[in-house]
Amino acid sequence: MVDEAKTRDKFTIINELARRRGFFWKSYEIYGGVSGFVTYGFLGAKLKQNIEKKVRELFVNKLGILEIESPIIAPSKVFEASGHVDHFKEPMVECLKCKRRFRADHLLQEFAKISEVEAEKLSLKEVEEAIEKHEIRCPECGGIFDEPKYFLTMFKTTIGPYSEAIGYGRPEAAQGIFVEFRRLYEMAREKLPFGVIQIGHVLRNEISPRQGLIRSREFTIIDLEFFFDPEEPNCFLLIDFENETLRLLLAENKLRGSEEIIEVTVNEALEKGYIKVEWQAVFMALAKKLLVGLGVPAEKQRFIEKLPWEKAHYALQSFDQEIYVERWGWVEVSGHAYRTDYDLKRHMEFSGVDMRVFKEHEKPVEREQAVVKPLMAKLGPVFKEEAAKIVGLLSEADPEEVDVSIEKNGYYMLGKYKVLPEYVEITRQKVKERGRRFIPYVVEPSFGSDRMVYVALEYAYRVKDDRAILSLPRDIAPIQVGVYPLVSKDGLPGKALQVYKTLLNEGFMVEYDEAGSIGRRYARADEIGIPLGVTVDYKTLEDNTVTVRDRDSWKQVRSRIEELPQLLHKYFRWKANFEDLGKPLEG
Ligand code: AMP
Repeated sequence: MVDEAKTRDKFTIINELARRRGFFWKSYEIYGGVSGFVTYGFLGAKLKQNIEKKVRELFVNKLGILEIESPIIAPSKVFEASGHVDHFKEPMVECLKCKRRFRADHLLQEFAKISEVEAEKLSLKEVEEAIEKHEIRCPECGGIFDEPKYFLTMFKTTIGPYSEAIGYGRPEAAQGIFVEFRRLYEMAREKLPFGVIQIGHVLRNEISPRQGLIRSREFTIIDLEFFFDPEEPNCFLLIDFENETLRLLLAENKLRGSEEIIEVTVNEALEKGYIKVEWQAVFMALAKKLLVGLGVPAEKQRFIEKLPWEKAHYALQSFDQEIYVERWGWVEVSGHAYRTDYDLKRHMEFSGVDMRVFKEHEKPVEREQAVVKPLMAKLGPVFKEEAAKIVGLLSEADPEEVDVSIEKNGYYMLGKYKVLPEYVEITRQKVKERGRRFIPYVVEPSFGSDRMVYVALEYAYRVKDDRAILSLPRDIAPIQVGVYPLVSKDGLPGKALQVYKTLLNEGFMVEYDEAGSIGRRYARADEIGIPLGVTVDYKTLEDNTVTVRDRDSWKQVRSRIEELPQLLHKYFRWKANFEDLGKPLEG
């Protein structure tokens, strides 16, 4: 049945299986389908939920991170402040003949074998030259392209009936966290560090998505913003992860044209300065653990450091966690950005709301500080009725900054007003400082749920005796147990239905199937990754035991029905292995 593995690549096989068995498929099929939109069926939705549950177990519950839900649409101000309106765009070309549009950098990668690194670096002019040089033509009709332009990949809309009230569909969930920072900080009892996570849909108007779940126009993002004091960047979890290894491809190596992976422990990565902050290193170790838990071996994972021109505009240092997939090579599943105070600072500038936090010193600290006294006698004649306003503004300015600027430049710019040395008297005085006011720094791990669904499926897929098996890790399999009567007569279905209901009541995801031969039912179950099959047979009627079958090894053991729920709970919490299911419960 599955000789296909030899002729078709896994991407095709997984997408076909997903459509046929109802994991996911292209949306709006009855209207011809729309690229970049995916509908998850029962199995896919459950698989995705289970993956997100794993993220919650790893990041949310254990780290005490707060989870929020914010809107998908935001007023334009939010994305002007975040920098997305200026930066969230991609180079695009249009075919002069068929009018189809393509992402220019992707064409260069596909048809001129220019690496992603090189392609992303090019200016529009250079993109145009490269397309000409490599004689790239429209992949659909062979036509030539017009000159490349930038395309803003945010979805733009209006909020309500007012055309001037522009809004954008969020391309990331992070801004929903930053704009609420003040309130969230209060809820976190005004203590740093603390983290906030948001799992939700985002919209990116990708130019020509042709990679299924890997590149869609609406997908689920998991953004975790972790706020900390830049003067206390130590991570209290480091001790648990310091010896975890990470496979890194450093920017400095990429620049030399090398793809060399170095394998280092978290500790080494920090000591050697490969990763700038402890929290980021720990989140990367957790991300690796997460993906191992989804079935991707460590050697099929790497963290690739972004070069200056590849990094998002907000990041000081960025790594992408990449997973090797058969059709597309290394694909990013999560981004790890050191966002510093960029976002909060920008929202502070754009909204005028103070995003700084106040941290009290253990003991007040005595410091010498500049004190700036405005001289009304000088300011009055020059600024007239605006003089009072200037006095007010000066009292809010940082006196050190005023002092340094006057010393260095001979003036200080107070907004649009130029303050000359003769307008103020600057003295140095001892002041008692109770604490510090500062904008917290942020590290962000950001995962794409849909890409994790895809890689989990690709890595789970195998063929045994010409049959397809999805060896999904037991804790993410959408259906946990299949219950079957061996044959549909002699009272076996009735008994099997009783077992089915018992397991349902115990909270397991169970499927009941009595159609066709038992071999075919097992095969159907293996193909959607049901880890265990429970079969009610003639022996069951005699001694109340059932056959339990393992999806991966096809081994079978017998368990007592009354012990089954407890055994299965242990099994799905990784507290028992398959063989244990055939042993009586202890105690
Ligand atoms: P980014 O903000 O671009 O680093 O994206 C964060 C994460 O979202 C990535 O690591 C991917 O897993 C995922 N992602 C980005 N773009 C897409 C897309 N078009 N479709 C599906 N997932 C995406």
